[in-house]
Amino acid sequence: MTNPPPSLATPYRTHTCGALRASDAGSPARLAGWVHRRRDHGQLIFIDLRDRHGLTQVVIDATDAPEAHEIASRARSEFVLTVAGEVVRRLPGTENPRLPTGEIELRASDVTILNEAKTPPFYINDPDAPIDETLRLRYRYLDIRREAMQQRLLLRSRLVQAIREVHHASGFVEVETPNLIKSTPEGARDFIVPSRLQPGAVYALPQSPQQLKQLLMVAGVDRYFQIARCFRDEDLRGDRQPEFTQLDLEMSFVDEATVMDFVERMAIEVSRAVVPERPILATLFPRFTFAEAMERFGSDKPDLRFGMELVDLAPELAGTDGAAASGFRVFDEVLAAGGRVKAISVPGLGAAPRSRIDELTETAKRFGAKGLAHLSVEAEGAVKGPIVKFLGDDLAERLVARAEANPGDLVLIVADTADVTNDVLGRLRAELGTRLALADPNVLAYGWVHRFPMYQWDTENGRWDATHNPFSGVVPEDEALLTTTSGDPAAPAPGDPAGRARAMQYDIVLNGWELGGGSVRIWRRDLLERSFALQGYSLERMRSMFGAILDAFEYGAPPHGGIALGIDRWAALLTNQATIREVMAFPKTQSGSDPMLEAPSEPDPGQYAELGLRFVGIPGKPPAAPDG
Ligand code: ASP
Repeated sequence: MTNPPPSLATPYRTHTCGALRASDAGSPARLAGWVHRRRDHGQLIFIDLRDRHGLTQVVIDATDAPEAHEIASRARSEFVLTVAGEVVRRLPGTENPRLPTGEIELRASDVTILNEAKTPPFYINDPDAPIDETLRLRYRYLDIRREAMQQRLLLRSRLVQAIREVHHASGFVEVETPNLIKSTPEGARDFIVPSRLQPGAVYALPQSPQQLKQLLMVAGVDRYFQIARCFRDEDLRGDRQPEFTQLDLEMSFVDEATVMDFVERMAIEVSRAVVPERPILATLFPRFTFAEAMERFGSDKPDLRFGMELVDLAPELAGTDGAAASGFRVFDEVLAAGGRVKAISVPGLGAAPRSRIDELTETAKRFGAKGLAHLSVEAEGAVKGPIVKFLGDDLAERLVARAEANPGDLVLIVADTADVTNDVLGRLRAELGTRLALADPNVLAYGWVHRFPMYQWDTENGRWDATHNPFSGVVPEDEALLTTTSGDPAAPAPGDPAGRARAMQYDIVLNGWELGGGSVRIWRRDLLERSFALQGYSLERMRSMFGAILDAFEYGAPPHGGIALGIDRWAALLTNQATIREVMAFPKTQSGSDPMLEAPSEPDPGQYAELGLRFVGIPGKPPAAPDG
């Protein structure tokens, strides 16, 4: 699919700064770009001229071109120039093998300063200079001139292009859905936009195009996709942005496997097109049920690039009568109460000093454990640790063997309820995987986690809450479970059969991140009503929130399902960045502001009147604008 490079010639240039080669020697050329670096040797001035395509060395000789030399002597970093002259081979020994243009230079006879530039607030030509992120965001247009940012934005552009190509080739239609809509909940707060034409009413910005894409399936579009902007007003903890981009898709007449198979093939084709040099760990993505993922990795987004799986120690701890009798009271009590005793085996930490173990214990407590037990396997194979005196050597050795620990490894053990045990060990696994660099940064390890519980009990509101999406369908074998003990779906209780129902819900994971999630939807009106009742939606509330979908479902909805993948996350993972801000042209800060545009800002006084708005302030915070 490689097309010949397009001609980028314009009145200001015959070539880009990355185009000239030794074969061009002897030809005239004109370049335009920014002064990357200027070296003044008196008689000779060297300018590295830069654009997004590359860098070319320009030489201006005072004897050959006195006028051009005088102008070049006034040029400074980041000035915009156009220069014309002859392409010449560099003298032997002065070539730069690191530059594609490194065999030649442009001997300029004409230099024009198109625009001057102030001294930038940070070095654009030093890739390693540490720069404060707020400064980078304030001057993002200069930050994006830097090579690393350019490369990431180019990769992102190729990513979106590859996504579009695979979808078009697979029978999908790209449809744009509106941003001024009514609330489509995805578990976050809506951003709202007041309507001028209907004072007192608001639009909500989409948290996702979920309802609209389902309506497109009722409309017979069959296969839809969109590079969709989504808006979620959340507290910006961690790596979240109030607006972000999803690859959103939906397909008709499908089951779980149809969607997963397509997404898998699409992800492989896209990865190969965008980062052909990065190996894909398994091109048949491993599929774990949610229960299995929690059991083996303690996480629903496991990093599959390394092992260190969670191991159940209970079978070794049982006494001859089946009851727990390890000799270590904590383990026995937890097992007697129906809890779990599980371990991970950390490679190479067997000789870790006391301080390191203490620090790991503190980490485990921060993750919610009451404590952390350990067994160190010494280089010669002897098993040591404070709990050996309770367990005895024989049992300690059997536990270590069960955990598949090798000499030199450290076995970390958590005993607690199933949820706490899995969660704490899962987080320790992830943290130690990073700290000990167990994952190959080059490898792409995709996988699936599916069959999530359909609901979790919402203690506060006394109802079942959809774990992911209120429209997710139930696994066909579990359909009968969508009920309550009392038989009335509108009277839910924590012990209901509904709590055991599994959803046709799948998440795609990549290198320990959740890359996306989706489901096969409930497309039958009767099941939808039952499910919504369990989630505490009265008929009136259902109508007011999802009226369009409920109406549409009475006109022949096909079976359908889909998924959404985070484009920002995908781009960050493909470029090995720790934050999605590094792959967004103009991201917001942690407090949700844009320091360059100075957004958000107060409305103009006239806008208050036009929209019929008055800010009265929030208790504890002053009003943003004068009252009145
Ligand atoms: N709307 C869902 C989301 O944004 C994705 C889906 O179920 O297709 O996470």
